[in-house]
Amino acid sequence: MSVALRLEGVRLGYELGHEFHTVVDDASLTLDAGRIGCLLGPSGGGKSTLLRAIAGFEPVRAGRILIGDRVVASANVSVAPERRSVGLMFQEYALFPHLTAAQNVGFGLRKWSRAERDARVLELLELVGLAAAGGRYPHELSGGQQQRIALVRALAPRPALLLLDEPFSNLDAQTRERLVVEVRDILRAAGQTALLVTHNEAEAAALADQVSTVGHGRLENRAA
Ligand code: ADP
Ligand code: MG
Repeated sequence: MSVALRLEGVRLGYELGHEFHTVVDDASLTLDAGRIGCLLGPSGGGKSTLLRAIAGFEPVRAGRILIGDRVVASANVSVAPERRSVGLMFQEYALFPHLTAAQNVGFGLRKWSRAERDARVLELLELVGLAAAGGRYPHELSGGQQQRIALVRALAPRPALLLLDEPFSNLDAQTRERLVVEVRDILRAAGQTALLVTHNEAEAAALADQVSTVGHGRLENRAA
């Protein structure tokens, strides 16, 4: 099986004034292609920082990050986010309010031909049971429907790796429970490699093939 993501002794942190504060130290992890990994840990543990570093929005101070067999980040390498073949579904990455559901899903496909794009958008809307809602604007969709659209928007360009940062945290418990199972099935059906961040143990267990615990700047890996 090929490796989709590898972290090797990664250190991350922030400059505060003249001091450097380490947030994640010596983090290592391997995620095989087609698998769903999870970063689990308490709030403030460094999960989002780690995910942002994988996506390319946070510098790596030591160690390195590989996507496929390519080094995308190290102390002296930094591949731009748009060149990492990474899809993002972050809590704060809301849908574009002025675009319809279909236009949101097709947003990352602007370089595709019209026919290919339309076909891909329809296929994805069908995948999440929203084929009839393609013309609706985000405010005309429920929270769960918006999350489904955000998910397939991230899947649309077929990224090598999909990163999800607490994608269910703004939903009520019932919607969340249903969506966790749906998202797992959608990712599996698409054969999509994904790394999910959550502080919710049940969510991690329901979704992931492997879980890494983030806390005290460390990372512990185990099979789910
Ligand atoms: P989590 O996602 O696990 O809740 P974060 O990665 O958001 O954790 O944050 C980890 C630590 O890094 C926290 O102590 C937080 O205050 C700090 N931190 C996060 N973002 C920044 C930033 N932009 N500047 C300085 N410190 C930050
Ligand atoms: Mg976070």
